[in-house]
Amino acid sequence: MDDCLFCRIVRRESPARLVKEDDLALAFRDTNPQAPTHILIIPKAHIQSIDAARPEDEPVLGRLLLMAQVIAREEGIVGGYRLVFNNGRGAGQTVFHIHLHLLGGRPFRWPPG
Ligand code: AMP
Ligand code: ZN
Repeated sequence: MDDCLFCRIVRRESPARLVKEDDLALAFRDTNPQAPTHILIIPKAHIQSIDAARPEDEPVLGRLLLMAQVIAREEGIVGGYRLVFNNGRGAGQTVFHIHLHLLGGRPFRWPPG
């Protein structure tokens, strides 16, 4: 999508601190980190939200989770980490290209705010 910030990062038209990339997914550091480790993991193809995902998106959605697992190990996160998809404005989604938040390096409370 031409006017999507995260598509522009995929195309290297916007800067990002890249962490990992494979054929389906890209990971980069959040510019406004909410934890010592805060990384966003996105599909390279534009999908607006979890709500807009289709059955054929299942492989890439699985890839996001497994990439998070690998990055959490590589980042040396100990004591657990939090994975979050904000879906829709009411849940705090501000960028409408699916992104999995990987947060670690501090304690997390439940329920989330
Ligand atoms: P959400 O509120 O779930 O849609 O999350 C959007 C996230 O994207 C926020 O945590 C922002 O800090 C982050 N963000 C916005 N612009 C950028 C950018 N150019 N590079 C990295 N992270 C960004
Ligand atoms: Zn996009």
